[in-house]
Amino acid sequence: MSAPVPLIAGNWKMHGLGPALSEARAIAAGAPAAGVRLALCPPSTLVERMSAALAGSAVSVGGQDCHPEVAGAFTGDVSAEMLAEAGARMVILGHSERRATYAESDEIVASKVRAALRAELEPIVCVGETLADREGGRTLDVVTWQVRNSLPQDLSGRAFTVAYEPVWAIGTGLTPSLADIEEVHRAIRDTLRDQFGPAGAEPAILYGGSVKPANAAEILAVPEVGGALVGGASLKAGDFLGIVAGTPGL
Ligand code: PEP
Repeated sequence: MSAPVPLIAGNWKMHGLGPALSEARAIAAGAPAAGVRLALCPPSTLVERMSAALAGSAVSVGGQDCHPEVAGAFTGDVSAEMLAEAGARMVILGHSERRATYAESDEIVASKVRAALRAELEPIVCVGETLADREGGRTLDVVTWQVRNSLPQDLSGRAFTVAYEPVWAIGTGLTPSLADIEEVHRAIRDTLRDQFGPAGAEPAILYGGSVKPANAAEILAVPEVGGALVGGASLKAGDFLGIVAGTPGL
């Protein structure tokens, strides 16, 4: 079975007004023709405009979250169908900021994954340990538990991506050692094979947490690292494309 095509996805979080679309256009203009998939996940308010701005380019657009239901009395929420209608092709789910701020459990994340599949969106499902988990020696238990419980069997035969994001590495400038990244990614791959059989070899497993141009190449070269989920450094085209340039084989 061939290795998954690497994916470099940018998570803009709650950043970006209309003028920021120029950065997205610059990323599309500098995107390699092959060898890597690129995606940008702006705030919901920009999904439709970014999709129009990047139409025909090599850069996909994604959402940052979705509600499990198609529609209803859920003030402030956005459904997977709404994201898809606005032009999204993928959606980040279970980001640690949502798990922490909105108490999103693995079960809630799994229900959102089902919603994404219903709307034909590729889920990017985030997992990762806290600093207390790592210092307590619980990293592999926590991460493999999250994988098992956030990824429903409905994903069998469907396109999806997992992002390993140590909570303590997000936005802090800290990163795990390359050996630690490899250990967790191998554990995730083993869990995916256990859950989905041979098809568990197919999904890309992204690393996320303080990826920048200076460390991208060494992280992206770690076995089982199939790309990156990038927060802060995805807001500027030069930084994001500097990370993309670190993709092995480009
Ligand atoms: C993220 O929020 O998914 C992330 C990886 O952030 P940063 O790259 O800023 O650490």
